[in-house]
Amino acid sequence: MSPDCCQSIIEINDKKKKWCFLARILRLWKSWDSNNSAVPLTVDLVLMDSYGHKIDANIGGEFIPKFHSSLREDDVYIMCNFNVTLNHLDVKTTAHKYYLNFTKHTKIKKVDDDFVPIYSYFFTHPQVFLSPNYRSEELVDVIGMLAKVEMEDDNFIDGEMKKVVSMDLAKDGMLDRTISKPHSVYAINETTKAHVLDQWVYKTIRHTLSTLGLCAMGSMSVILGKVEHLEPNCDWWYLSCVCNTKVIPYDNMYYCQTCSRRVLIVSQRYIIRFRVSDNTGSATFVMHDRMASDFYEMSCSKMLQYAINDGVPEQISNMVGKCYLFMVFTRVCSNSDSVNSYPVAKVTADGALIQSFKRHNSIE
Ligand SMILES: [Zn+2]
Repeated sequence: MSPDCCQSIIEINDKKKKWCFLARILRLWKSWDSNNSAVPLTVDLVLMDSYGHKIDANIGGEFIPKFHSSLREDDVYIMCNFNVTLNHLDVKTTAHKYYLNFTKHTKIKKVDDDFVPIYSYFFTHPQVFLSPNYRSEELVDVIGMLAKVEMEDDNFIDGEMKKVVSMDLAKDGMLDRTISKPHSVYAINETTKAHVLDQWVYKTIRHTLSTLGLCAMGSMSVILGKVEHLEPNCDWWYLSCVCNTKVIPYDNMYYCQTCSRRVLIVSQRYIIRFRVSDNTGSATFVMHDRMASDFYEMSCSKMLQYAINDGVPEQISNMVGKCYLFMVFTRVCSNSDSVNSYPVAKVTADGALIQSFKRHNSIE
């Protein structure tokens, strides 16, 4: 095991196991079993060689005691003998086609080496990954001004509730869009995608509109309800400062009360308030920008092109009179016009889901 025998990470494939390379540990993190917080389930690593090529690696539970204490983020090692498999991870930290698993035959030796850079970034332009056609499970490097960081919140990602910290990225002073980063170390896995039915029908507590107000604050409930009408005297969109506050026209510009300054750059955002009813009562549900953009599959500025004579676009008004399953936060937000409303986390008109929900809850 000497540096002379080292190969480049980019050469690694599953044709053999005797790979030997020099790499820096760029990242090292533990994943925990939620039922047993004493022992990590796995230790995951991102390794990079002196050419800047990267690969994901994983130490399974049984090998953690053997390797973990001798591995440290930022250090450089000669590493040999891995089980190489195709990288089928749902979230890929690197673009490498393969993935390394530590085995009992794996050898590691720390070396002092300045040839391996401390980091290596390949920045992806936001226009690339925010385009509707962008599909990739690879994590991307991004550069830009952070315009806003929101509080940790519950959000749905591929049918599973996750802790999410949302960030607004500004580019050239422009707000690009919201980027959400899953906070949970439990990356999206195969099984969660099959659990959409579970989330809507079995796992999230079902409520009626009369019992919604009695739920624990901040919990999540599923409600089957009919959209009665858009709340009168409420616009379905607003002009927003980068800080998400509604701006007011001021001196040929706009003024943001939160930022206490005049602002030039504003964007249109959804804020749609529906009155929803079931056979026990009614309540106001509010669809915020991110949720509404997902549901209508278009941004608010695009939707405005469908607003004839400043009216409400059909895509929105057509919801009136129809039944939906709503997943709502039981955290009443009181806004400036003192309409108590429940924020909608997700909404679906999926007939099969609604039928399953009705069957499960014995609703006619
Ligand atoms: Zn502001």
